[in-house]
Amino acid sequence: MDQKNLPEAKKQRKKTKVSNKATGKTHKKSVGKKKIVKKPVGIFFHFLFIILKVLFILVIAVGISGGGLLTGIVYGYLSTTVPVQPEQLEIRTGLTSYIYDIDENVMMELTGSQNINRIPISYEQMPYYLEKAFIAIEDERFDSHIGIDMRRIASSVVSLVVNKGRITQGGSTITQQVVKHITGKWDNTIERKVQEWYNAILLERKYDKKRILTLYANVVNEGNGCYGVQSASNYYFDKDVSDLSLAECTILAAIPNAPTTYNPTTEKGRVEVEDRKELVLGKMLELGFIDQKEYDAAMSQELNFTFTRKTAIEKPTTYFTDHVLNEVINDLTEQKNITRSIAESMVYNNGYKIYTTMDPYIQSGMDSVFMDPSYFPEKDENGNVLNKNAEKYGEVPQAGMVIIDPFTGYVKAMYGGNGEKTVSRAYNRATQAKRQPGSSFKPIAVYAPAMDLRLISPATIVDDVPVYLDEKNPDTIYPTNYVKNQYRGLTSIRYGIKASVNVVSARVWKEILGFENSVAYLKKVGIDREDEIYHDTVSVAMGGLRTGVSPLEMADAFTPFVNSGIYSPATTYTKVVDIDGNVILDNRPEYTVAYSEETAFLMRNVLSEVVTPKNSPYGGQWGGGGTAASHIKIKDGAIDVAGKTGTTSDNLDKWFVGFTPYYTAAVWYGYDNQIKPITLTSAEYSQAMIIWNAVMNKVHQDLPTTRFPDPSGNIVTREVCIFSGKIATDACRQDPRGNSVKTEFFVRGTEPSYDDICDVHVKAKVCTASKDNWGRYLLANPYCDPNTVSEVVRIQRKIPWVPSKPGEPMPEDVYLELPAGEYCTVHKPVATGHGAAITAPPTSHIDERLPSETTQPAPPVAEHTPDDDEETGDGLNFNDS
Ligand SMILES: [Zn+2]
Ligand SMILES: [Zn+2]
Repeated sequence: MDQKNLPEAKKQRKKTKVSNKATGKTHKKSVGKKKIVKKPVGIFFHFLFIILKVLFILVIAVGISGGGLLTGIVYGYLSTTVPVQPEQLEIRTGLTSYIYDIDENVMMELTGSQNINRIPISYEQMPYYLEKAFIAIEDERFDSHIGIDMRRIASSVVSLVVNKGRITQGGSTITQQVVKHITGKWDNTIERKVQEWYNAILLERKYDKKRILTLYANVVNEGNGCYGVQSASNYYFDKDVSDLSLAECTILAAIPNAPTTYNPTTEKGRVEVEDRKELVLGKMLELGFIDQKEYDAAMSQELNFTFTRKTAIEKPTTYFTDHVLNEVINDLTEQKNITRSIAESMVYNNGYKIYTTMDPYIQSGMDSVFMDPSYFPEKDENGNVLNKNAEKYGEVPQAGMVIIDPFTGYVKAMYGGNGEKTVSRAYNRATQAKRQPGSSFKPIAVYAPAMDLRLISPATIVDDVPVYLDEKNPDTIYPTNYVKNQYRGLTSIRYGIKASVNVVSARVWKEILGFENSVAYLKKVGIDREDEIYHDTVSVAMGGLRTGVSPLEMADAFTPFVNSGIYSPATTYTKVVDIDGNVILDNRPEYTVAYSEETAFLMRNVLSEVVTPKNSPYGGQWGGGGTAASHIKIKDGAIDVAGKTGTTSDNLDKWFVGFTPYYTAAVWYGYDNQIKPITLTSAEYSQAMIIWNAVMNKVHQDLPTTRFPDPSGNIVTREVCIFSGKIATDACRQDPRGNSVKTEFFVRGTEPSYDDICDVHVKAKVCTASKDNWGRYLLANPYCDPNTVSEVVRIQRKIPWVPSKPGEPMPEDVYLELPAGEYCTVHKPVATGHGAAITAPPTSHIDERLPSETTQPAPPVAEHTPDDDEETGDGLNFNDS
């Protein structure tokens, strides 16, 4: 230091102090993170604090291991300290990290400059003025202390006492601040403080001052999203940090104390930071880091703030890369006990090799579909806008898709939005959109769990009738089917899945499975909703969740159906290797059993119905195709496919979640709903299926013809009736709706025994001259005209359906029920003068439910022609919600 300048420097320092006093600025007091105790706490704690400090210093510095309660507490704190590990300090500079695809070809390079808010520098790049400015203002004894500053602690103790418990002096050394940045622990409890001191001392023992100061310069928060001095230098002055002037260095040294207060982008912050710059310069002068000339020059330098946000990345990252980066950064943060900010710097700067599961062939197939505007139609062929609300609110249709290898859990490809991706780290609908899954949730929330617990089989019958399952609204029919007031009556699970009948899934969930089983099984396939599913949230059975799901979660949850019931969490990278070849993150998947092999087989089999155009023996409307029948077909039928559609009740979301013997995949389609919910129009209903089909056909075009694996030896078949689930009889073949006999699969032991025959279908003689109020022929009596007597097949319910409220819609198959106990009223015995009543056989229980009068209009003739084949197609006629 220039001796002749010394008095001047002292004067300046005084001047600075005075000016601070004069303006009423209390910089030290306003320092958020430098205060030892932020909030006023009881006097007791302050004294405890003081005692602890003293004890601590003794313990550490002198090595006394004396007894006593407080010493014990201190030791307790120390023993629970997680020491800062060397790898937590591993921010390097100038190294390129690489991201590899599944074939170990580089798919992306990462450099520090891409991570524009976090560009690290080496010690050599740090200008002298900056180093000294930091030391002067933050930690003047940095070069000599052991990590903690005894004089500072002592003076804060003194000031505690003098000010009767109010802290006016004190703070963290640069080393302590580094510890805070690394651990992310900013709270100022006594315990944390003790641990921070301890770690700071350890850090100083391990590393020299240069390294610690460099770390500080690279992690320090410079405000406005800038971490480290290089990004701050770029942003505030549009300069490399090594080109900064003294005045500019003091600005960067001034900001970290309170980045919001000293924010040069605001007028007030500008005044504040220039004030603090003066303080920094004064301190530098006082400590002899600069001379008067330098001081004066810096004081008079007009600062030229630029506020330039550089966009260093010429090519935006892909959705897959974005997701992998997030995963790796998350895992580093968790496993290495560091902050996100540091993990991010490490990923961009440390020369890591990140091995991903991305399959370039599959990804490019998906890319080509998502970049083709014809898959996201906004106008019809006449140029009319399809969705007026979308146009009004300035939104375009969006979609997200994920493809997973079900045997490894490896995510092969993903895409997170409509069209070309133009920004890095953009909103990714494949992984970040949490949308209601609608009926695509039924297989994992209802059917597979119930089958796995052997509570149902595909042949189990549920009565599709009006129900009141919402406990909060016991008088309101809930749920309704897709076509309101359409109830089919006795319905098999197989049909309920194919046609997505809400009542069937809701009754299975509520009356057979139970919410606890549903939650437990969802958890097994990676969807943890323990906190939100209760016994009264039957909407879950139709995919009504408080927190939705992402395409990634759905594609992953369906993987056990392909992989024999085995689940593995979706994985996007397998390992991260550092520059020395050490594996720093090992992400090999773990496998767990979600369902039995038999359940997986049965689910593959029933979910195949959804994409099957028409299946005999179902006759009439029952013979139509599944909800995705006319849109999903892989390689012209050469490769098996199965899946489930999903629609939310207000048509905000459309899903298709499906699989082949090779891959599972999920597509969500809808709008972001940024301003208002935008309901999809019917012209847009099929887009999720269309996109799924287009991508999967590209993906499978060169793959060999394959079928889903055959059932294991533990699966048996039986010819059953689709309306009773029992062994079929002749009568079942003569159901007026068509042959209702089907070869069904059962887990061995759950099949009906051969003598357990259908008790739903009955043959009876009716008189066609006599009908009840619902238009059903009554039973023939002995006096009926033989020409009007006919033998027909009818059904009978074991549990009678009785309308529980007036005007309640009736299930369609009621018209096919035998009006048991009701005999022809037209033909009577030839008059004998007695008017003798007909002696009818004993009435059956069925009588009780027959309404004597009804407000329902007379039904159509009960007979359905077996050939009355409705092509039910794509879910529009189905109960898909
Ligand atoms: Zn039958
Ligand atoms: Zn008759």
